[in-house]
Amino acid sequence: MIKLAMIDSKNIRTRMAPSPTGELHIGGLRTLLYDYALAKKNNGQFILRIEDTDQKRLVVGSQERILQVIKDYGLNWDEGPDIGGPYGPYVQSERLDIYQKYIKELVDKGFAYYCFCTQERLDSLRATQKAAKQLPRYDQHCFHLSKDEIQKNLDAKIPYTVRLVIPKSETIIFDDIIRGKIKFNTNEVDDQVLIKSNGIPTYHFAAVVDDHLMKITHVFRGEEWLTSTPKHLLLYRYFNWEAPAFAHLTVLLNPDGKGKLSKRTGSTHARVFLDEGYLPEAMLNFLMLLGWNPGTDQEFFTLDQFIQNFSLEHLHKKSPIFDRKKLDYFNGYYLRQKTDEQLFDLFKKFLPTASDDQIKILVPVLKERIVKLSDLVSQTKFLFENVEYDQELLLKKGTDPKLAIDMLTKSKELINNNFDNLSEKLLELIKNNNWNTGEFFMVFRVAICGSVFTPPVVECLPALGQKKTLEKIDIAITKLTQ
Ligand code: GLU
Repeated sequence: MIKLAMIDSKNIRTRMAPSPTGELHIGGLRTLLYDYALAKKNNGQFILRIEDTDQKRLVVGSQERILQVIKDYGLNWDEGPDIGGPYGPYVQSERLDIYQKYIKELVDKGFAYYCFCTQERLDSLRATQKAAKQLPRYDQHCFHLSKDEIQKNLDAKIPYTVRLVIPKSETIIFDDIIRGKIKFNTNEVDDQVLIKSNGIPTYHFAAVVDDHLMKITHVFRGEEWLTSTPKHLLLYRYFNWEAPAFAHLTVLLNPDGKGKLSKRTGSTHARVFLDEGYLPEAMLNFLMLLGWNPGTDQEFFTLDQFIQNFSLEHLHKKSPIFDRKKLDYFNGYYLRQKTDEQLFDLFKKFLPTASDDQIKILVPVLKERIVKLSDLVSQTKFLFENVEYDQELLLKKGTDPKLAIDMLTKSKELINNNFDNLSEKLLELIKNNNWNTGEFFMVFRVAICGSVFTPPVVECLPALGQKKTLEKIDIAITKLTQ
């Protein structure tokens, strides 16, 4: 029987173990959030470990970027590669000696064996099995080598891997926190390579050794690892170690409900959401509810509230849809919770060429109108450049060109004489000339912004300045007289 960690009786330690093979996926951030909440709720520790044993897939700079993006979301770890801790090092490539010691123990006990098969043999085996419509798996050729044959191969320095011994026809049962009882027949499990021919462990071996040595009590990970769990549980049994509790989280689905969240429907990297101007607290709140519910109607949670409310019982079995509209709703909510002073700094970040005075004008005008901060860039483009547009756009409401020229010429005169209280003055101008208000503002808006979808144009004029406003009106008049 596999020993599983008792949930209540020990110091809770969770871990996130990203591989530095690219950017942190938004689903990884959700996993991390649950790890974090469980540890913090129980006054335990959350550990960050870097799993870099797949040397071929390493991406330069990825480790640093993963660490940074986690911090940028306002999260942190109690032990990890940069700060160390009592069970370090926390980067697997720095722990190779440790794995060597443990693999030796397994081989000595007969729970793992040397495999001297060449890649050619393995490839041809796989091809034969595929042709016979069998599940590709190792045929245990080297499991049957005699002691003498093994020694001879070792002496001859023939490269080898080390494989896990899988018992025949045994049922492995474990209780997944989310999915309940899971059964595997060992006949479906391949003799997993634990140590590769370059002496580096595979994920399976390194993760089990590390989770044990780092005293991890709960493992949250994606459901793609579910089928690996029997191999891991066998390792725990062979070493006579207590296994952590496992929670295999659901996958996030595309907004249309079709398939795993993919680039097809927008960004999937945790970093990109921040770059697009989603607030960390909005993202985290959105992720909290993608696989967990509080058991009440409450939908807004600060990180602290989430930690207090988090419980393993309320994790979902059903894959959640990554509903971007919901995310926008959360972001809008959190943006509007901010004071104008807080928004000033955020606006500045997204509008680096705007002056402080411009930003002060824009914050109250735009704060209700943006979903995410990067919307500011398109909404304020006209302040920083002459946006290209066609003459027809000025006449979008069917305005006679002569009338449009009249509207613009008179607006220009007004603005030239006075740049204060423009809302009121322009309305007066419209009234005195018997113009249609909607028609006037369409011509005026396009003249100033080069677009029909714009923020409240008159309120933005102080940010544009008198001179530029007049220039833009001139450009529009020229377009209409050509
Ligand atoms: N290094 C694995 C990954 O990046 C971690 C899997 C696990 O959490 O056990 O997917």
